[in-house]
Amino acid sequence: MTGPVAVVVDTPQHAGLGGALDYLSEQTLAPGTLVRVPLGRREVAGIVWPHATRPVPEVVLRPIAQQLDAMPALAPQWLSLLEFAAGYYQRGLGELALAVLPPELRKLDASQLAQRLRRLHKKLRPADDAAAAPVALPTLNDEQTAALVAIDAAAVDPHAPPLLLHGVTGSGKTEVYLRAAARALERRRQALMLVPEINLTPQLLARVMARFPAQRVVALHSALTPAQRLQTWLLAHLGLADVVLGTRLAVFASMPRLGLVVVDEEHDASYKQQEGARYSARDLAIYRAHLERVPVLLGSATPSLETWHHVLSGRYRRLALERRIGGAALPRVRVFDMGRLPRVQGPPPVLAPPLLEALRERLARGEQSLVFLNRRGYAPVLHCTACGWKSACAHCTAWRVFHKHDRTLRCHHCGFTERVPRACPECGNLDIAPLGRGTERLEEQLGELLPGARIARFDADATRGKGNLERTLAAVHAGEIDVLVGTQMVTKGHDFRRITLVAAVNPDAALFSSDFRAPERQFALLLQAAGRAGRDAAATTPSEMWIQTWHPQHALFAALREHDYARFAGSQLDERRSAGLPPFAHLALLRAEARDAAVAQAFLRAGAETAATMAEAEGVMIYPPVPPTMQRVAGIERMQMLVESSARVRLQRFLSAWLPKLHEVRFAHKGLARWAVDVDPQAI
Ligand SMILES: [Zn+2]
Ligand SMILES: [Zn+2]
Repeated sequence: MTGPVAVVVDTPQHAGLGGALDYLSEQTLAPGTLVRVPLGRREVAGIVWPHATRPVPEVVLRPIAQQLDAMPALAPQWLSLLEFAAGYYQRGLGELALAVLPPELRKLDASQLAQRLRRLHKKLRPADDAAAAPVALPTLNDEQTAALVAIDAAAVDPHAPPLLLHGVTGSGKTEVYLRAAARALERRRQALMLVPEINLTPQLLARVMARFPAQRVVALHSALTPAQRLQTWLLAHLGLADVVLGTRLAVFASMPRLGLVVVDEEHDASYKQQEGARYSARDLAIYRAHLERVPVLLGSATPSLETWHHVLSGRYRRLALERRIGGAALPRVRVFDMGRLPRVQGPPPVLAPPLLEALRERLARGEQSLVFLNRRGYAPVLHCTACGWKSACAHCTAWRVFHKHDRTLRCHHCGFTERVPRACPECGNLDIAPLGRGTERLEEQLGELLPGARIARFDADATRGKGNLERTLAAVHAGEIDVLVGTQMVTKGHDFRRITLVAAVNPDAALFSSDFRAPERQFALLLQAAGRAGRDAAATTPSEMWIQTWHPQHALFAALREHDYARFAGSQLDERRSAGLPPFAHLALLRAEARDAAVAQAFLRAGAETAATMAEAEGVMIYPPVPPTMQRVAGIERMQMLVESSARVRLQRFLSAWLPKLHEVRFAHKGLARWAVDVDPQAI
């Protein structure tokens, strides 16, 4: 039988095209079959898509070039997930569906794929016979047991709500994930576990592998080589991997026997993709679990306000872990008012005297401390003491950061790097000085304050080289480090057993940010940081978190002192409700970029004009275009326009109708570099 087949290919979306093209096939092809088809003069990868009722086109169709049916077709649920994601985040279906496949897979022809699969099966055979020794399991406490009972119930209830595993730091959330995964594997299903950052995958991977020695556990993230990524993806797709552990892109892994979805640290902003298709892997994971009727477990000590709102309204179910495992105590939080220091000439001390004293005590007792400062480099800016020149980036609305170890000025946004000038480029004055403090300078200053202490730094610069991250972590675990200085990188997930003191030396910058999510993020970050202390239940000295601030009366610190997430979240939700912000409103940003800000602005204005009638009909608000906080990045000017609705459905309907018009408007604005719609933006 010869007939038209809808094939989705990666073409820029044009109005009316809908993401699928018609081709001729000599036989019936199952939806989800990977094919190669001619497109213009090229041959490209495509996916056979289920037929919507579409008229047979009157043009002559080109035949499908190859079908890659050595591999099973992508499952209908996978196709539905992609359709939903493309619709919700307003991307072309083909653009998204092909982009989430391993790049290697898109290049292979039918015989190459068959060959890869043969090699893969050959490689796997011996491992399958290996019998594994039974693993000794830790005893669960009653809270963990209750959580597992609820997860078990959700596994047999197709209408079970998403589950929030709300556990204080060190309460054994990972153990619950592992037990839940074990149950899924017993049911011959696959488990998908998402983590927010690549640097968290090695330790969790090791733990999962140790727990399931007879099963195949794979990691899927962007740091894999193309060949590794293809192999991992195929193992998941063929149902040969039992556990897939990965970062946000793993939410699109094809898993035919999916039985459980876990999203660890669900509040983490890293789950939102910030380029291309701006999807939230956390939200898609929830949708995917709903599609496949399997339990989804969101884990956090500080859930996102969106998730917490769903818990309060009864849409999600909260499973609480309120105690640390083994009975370890949460650190005592001490807020030090920097305003109480005696007034002296010059800048305030790096560490308030009582904090310095507390650090010295830990040092004397051989305990470890963690000093947290969320700013890397030596100093955020250099300045001239004579004329006031500052180390601005020539291409961005940002200062270039001073890195002392290689004497460079580096822009953390566009990468523009130069040697530090000998003299002020404006007036020739030789006295140019660092302003403020980053982790590199803090490490140096702590060295002077704590002579003899073994200090290590843990941030994106210090861990960049191969093996550096693992070496530093190993040294901390082995007790070879006394004081660890780090950015937010150090606060996430790591299970440091010997740390008894955590200090946040400059938490104030985030208190008065224009970003409405800043307090939520800062609270999560500080509570996570606090959570690195006192994880060893057998430790004899109580653990502490020190916060030195100029604003001790801030509500955030009061809630932190009590470890009271619910109180903090409640006050934030009240503010969001009265300000009409998410989760009480639904937002999208139309972003535009051009060398000339006026071009970007004109595009947004014209876009708003075409939308006026539709917006009014749907009750959607369109705000005037404004520049974002960082208007210029790498020489490109950016503008954005906020679209707001009280109902998600109305916003979605409006965006779907608006997008084709925007494609038309775009043609009238030649100088425009890029434009994109960002649904549920992280920052506005
Ligand atoms: Zn100067
Ligand atoms: Zn720059």
